[in-house]
Amino acid sequence: MAARVAVDRALCLGSGMCLVYAPGTFEHDDQAKAVVREPAGDPADVVETAVEACPTGALSLLPEQDGA
Ligand code: SF4
Repeated sequence: MAARVAVDRALCLGSGMCLVYAPGTFEHDDQAKAVVREPAGDPADVVETAVEACPTGALSLLPEQDGA
């Protein structure tokens, strides 16, 4: 099951670590801030590794939501 993840744009410094670890999930926008391109783009453990790798703590895992 894929994790859902949020990016705090105020904290993101555009290091790109999350893109390295989970390239199927994250991309940079035109301000070099990380955005979630595809919430299910990588396995949950891969996304968790990316969250842990973020040097500024800009990423946070969200609870999985059923339905909708
Ligand atoms: S690893 Fe963190 S600081 Fe770097 S681009 Fe991703 S969210 Fe931004």
